[in-house]
Amino acid sequence: MTPRRREGRRLSLIIPMHDEAPMLPVLFDRLDEALGGLGVALEIVCVDDGSRDGTWSALAERAVSDPRLKLIRLSRNFGKEAALTAGLDAAGGDMVVPLDADLQDPPELISEFVTLWEQGYDVVYGVRADRSADTRAKRWSAGLFYDLFNRLSDQPIPASTGDFRLMDRVVVEALKALPERNRFMKGLFAWVGFRQVGVPYVRPVRTAGTTSWRYRRLFRFALDGMTSFSTRPLRIWTTVGVVAAILALAAAAVIVVRVLVVGRDVPGYASLMVVILFAFALQMIALGVLGEYIGRMYQEVKGRPVYLISDRRGFDA
Ligand code: UDP
Ligand code: MG
Repeated sequence: MTPRRREGRRLSLIIPMHDEAPMLPVLFDRLDEALGGLGVALEIVCVDDGSRDGTWSALAERAVSDPRLKLIRLSRNFGKEAALTAGLDAAGGDMVVPLDADLQDPPELISEFVTLWEQGYDVVYGVRADRSADTRAKRWSAGLFYDLFNRLSDQPIPASTGDFRLMDRVVVEALKALPERNRFMKGLFAWVGFRQVGVPYVRPVRTAGTTSWRYRRLFRFALDGMTSFSTRPLRIWTTVGVVAAILALAAAAVIVVRVLVVGRDVPGYASLMVVILFAFALQMIALGVLGEYIGRMYQEVKGRPVYLISDRRGFDA
């Protein structure tokens, strides 16, 4: 690994924001405190993801007196992944760090990230050492997700990592070049590769405001991740179908032999019903799996942009 030097380099923070107005004062104080002595130029790209609580006006006001701030306003709420993509497209730094607005990603860790970047790592990601701040249900479902995802996908994502990481410009360019519209960032981050290293940290609770993720949304998110990184769920059904067909043939043979040897049996209405329902269920599941993939293909084929920008502040051109 070739060592780098931080002198004269620029670091871009990307902060997606959805209704984060109550967080802003705390957030910027904390950033100033944590990043003041970093020894690199700073650019703070804030992406307002369709907030309705005055986040944009508060940001705009701040930007007047703070030249480090660059603001992007999306035309509506596109979701965190799209907001991050918008930020990545706009960030100009040699190093780029996505950061949650609620300070669940401690900015103090960035200094450690930069040190490892200087040693030659292209990606330095935070690993949540202790998720006790999350609810039990969330931890359980997250664990289940990583487990399932890594079983299905050829490119495992390290467990308990989020979007909080430092990326070198090379990595950012690689990410920007990926054409897919379904931006499952964690998966894409892992997919691009490069020299990666993890730094454990303790994830604190949200400092103010409320989380915008409901379970339904998390479930969609998990499904997006699985389907965009694995086609195994599609292929499983071939195996299931073959096994079911063999079993059915074997059962038919048994029945024929029994009729020939013992004579005609009273037809079992119940067992027949069970078989029909079982087959019906299997077909529905298989259709559902197909539908998930076809739906995503439809999304990609339409080729709509990942996000739309309605306003920008602080960018020269
Ligand atoms: N966020 C966003 N768009 C959304 C939802 C969330 O930009 O539709 C931002 C949010 O403002 C925050 C980050 O994504 O900066 C993480 O969101 P949150 O803290 O609600 O998620 P959690 O920490 O519960 O995963
Ligand atoms: Mg949060």
